[in-house]
Amino acid sequence: MRQRGLTFAPKLAAPALTYDSSNVFARILRGEIPAQVLHEDERCLVFRDAMPVAPTHFLVIPKHPVARLIDATPADAALLGHLLLVAGKVAKDLGVADDGFRVVVNNGAGAGQTVFHLHVHVLAGRAMEWPPG
Ligand code: AMP
Repeated sequence: MRQRGLTFAPKLAAPALTYDSSNVFARILRGEIPAQVLHEDERCLVFRDAMPVAPTHFLVIPKHPVARLIDATPADAALLGHLLLVAGKVAKDLGVADDGFRVVVNNGAGAGQTVFHLHVHVLAGRAMEWPPG
């Protein structure tokens, strides 16, 4: 198929990463290790980051196993939206929304992802720099 205006060589899509259920967030979801839970519903769990990089730092994770953002599929669209809505709601509930907060998803080791269960970071309580490091 001819593609117009293509100025770069397209890479083949990377295969979905096989989900390894021994990761630390899967263990939290199974109740094998503790977490400071802020919110739970049928689709996600929210808990404080164990090594916070801001005065408020929590993680929103789906209960559904997805390794990276790029491994989500169109079937996960509503779930991804839910994670963001919950991120905002918990920020509001904690009283940190009005002063501004940052939402981060690290996709892949090159972006700093260390836990291969999809998670949304929410950072608040300090000035945020742009561009991020
Ligand atoms: P990332 O580098 O984007 O994969 O983020 C993983 C985050 O998980 C880091 O900010 C860690 O501090 C955090 N983390 C790792 N283990 C735990 C744990 N047991 N409870 C809460 N947060 C954790």
